[in-house]
Amino acid sequence: MKNTEFLDACRSAVGAAHVLTDEADKAAYLTDQRQRYTGTALAVIKPADTAEVAAVVKLCVEFQIPIVPQGGNTGLVLGSVPDQSGQAIVLSLKRLNKIRAVDPLNHTITVEAGCVLQHIQEAAAAEQRLLPLSLAAEGSCTIGGNLSTNAGGTAVLRYGNTRELCLGLEVVTAQGEILHGLRGLRKDNTGYDLRDLFIGAEGTLGIITAAVLKIFPQPKVQLTALAAVQTPAAALHLLNLAQDRCGALLTGFELMSDLCLQLVARHFPQLPFPFAERHPHYVLLELSDSEAAPHASTLLEAVIGDALEQNICQDAVLATSTAQSRALWQLRESISSAQAKEGKNIKHDIALPISRIAEFISVTDALLQEHFPGCRNVTFGHLGDGNLHYNVSPPVASCAEQFIERQADINRLVHDSVDRMNGSISAEHGLGALKREEILRYKSPVEIALMKSIKQALDPLNLMNPGKVI
Ligand SMILES: Cc1cc2nc3c(=O)[nH]c(=O)nc-3n(C[C@H](O)[C@H](O)[C@H](O)COP(=O)(O)OP(=O)(O)OC[C@H]3O[C@@H](n4cnc5c(N)ncnc54)[C@H](O)[C@@H]3O)c2cc1C
Repeated sequence: MKNTEFLDACRSAVGAAHVLTDEADKAAYLTDQRQRYTGTALAVIKPADTAEVAAVVKLCVEFQIPIVPQGGNTGLVLGSVPDQSGQAIVLSLKRLNKIRAVDPLNHTITVEAGCVLQHIQEAAAAEQRLLPLSLAAEGSCTIGGNLSTNAGGTAVLRYGNTRELCLGLEVVTAQGEILHGLRGLRKDNTGYDLRDLFIGAEGTLGIITAAVLKIFPQPKVQLTALAAVQTPAAALHLLNLAQDRCGALLTGFELMSDLCLQLVARHFPQLPFPFAERHPHYVLLELSDSEAAPHASTLLEAVIGDALEQNICQDAVLATSTAQSRALWQLRESISSAQAKEGKNIKHDIALPISRIAEFISVTDALLQEHFPGCRNVTFGHLGDGNLHYNVSPPVASCAEQFIERQADINRLVHDSVDRMNGSISAEHGLGALKREEILRYKSPVEIALMKSIKQALDPLNLMNPGKVI
């Protein structure tokens, strides 16, 4: 009875066509990206604008209905799907998809939360501007989801995470009020930073409905090189050298172990491997320059020349065309898919102080071999950001299912090692439902208590994405 009354009121608020209650219509919104988990929901509700979002939230407060906000549903920690109680609604933001304004002089773009990231990149490019946020899911993830997970991506080294790219937010609070914060200001010291509370909150404090984002002059040229190195420590030397020489022009610095590229070769044989022989590790470097191509290529050649001379790297290839550059990036971007094709594996999205990454890899690799002999480390990531995808595949010969059953033990070993080195068990993807319990082991009681106080203050009825984060 209560649910019927609630759903009727929602139909009046957003239109009956945008309140999905048929199981078949809801299905696409209930399973996570990696198809690991399927929840149930009372309904999927798709408002068209901020006022409709506010109206739905007010109804949820009145009828005590939990809300799971959802953008592109590409999240990797089960944050965007409901639990199995069937009590919650999924609030899809996808219809809030307007680019509200582009201000090339202020270097800002104002967008609604359901805009697909790639569409925003294109709108900025149409004004000769760059939105530097870029990730493999950009064709389907939304900016509301990017903000709510404080997504990283490939250009964090130069431009920062999504948080650093956001100047203002419009939010519907857990009470259904609208917080108007769409200011394009680079300086605004007027008390507590409410904007930053909602960024990275994974929908647990309110619903982001629009944002003002920073955009930048487009680089004239982007140059890519792939360097072969012996060890992660050598890769760090190369990072240091490249940063000293290139400063802010260095926009990408990605580490890949040889096993990563062996898997790519096995599962994507059409992608050419650019070296005559194999090396233990590789680094993908990218330079973005606002001057003409010779400036960047002289710099990159000098960095690689020095690195070869000092024996920091053993070999290198420089892309001389956009197609070659794409081909090098494709090697990096195909690792996750290659690992998935290889079979089940255990993923860790971790952050470490950059200075401790080499130590972390050697210590943790050794611990894993001691406790899980033969396991294969598929280690790659944004070395310049201190962010590793420290993934572990089963030994070739052993049964993958048995290995996956030991996931909790493997996670414990890896995360404890991360913690000993002052790192974080979630660099990019957030906590969602997947790491909500795990984080209790690694955050101090003071941090957990403060997080709970914030949640209680902003969402006292615990209706905003309950069961996620905290
Ligand atoms: C192939 C692939 C590559 C990826 N690469 C990266 C990467 O390089 N870096 C990275 O950081 N992540 C990466 N991800 C993870 C994912 O793409 C990001 O987390 C992305 O930011 C999620 O956006 P989304 O719109 O799909 O959000 P969803 O998955 O729909 O939601 C994510 C979280 O945000 C909440 N949420 C969504 N919209 C709103 C809103 N408007 N208001 C409040 N809460 C909201 C949800 O409740 C959920 O908790 C990748 C994922 C895939 C599948």
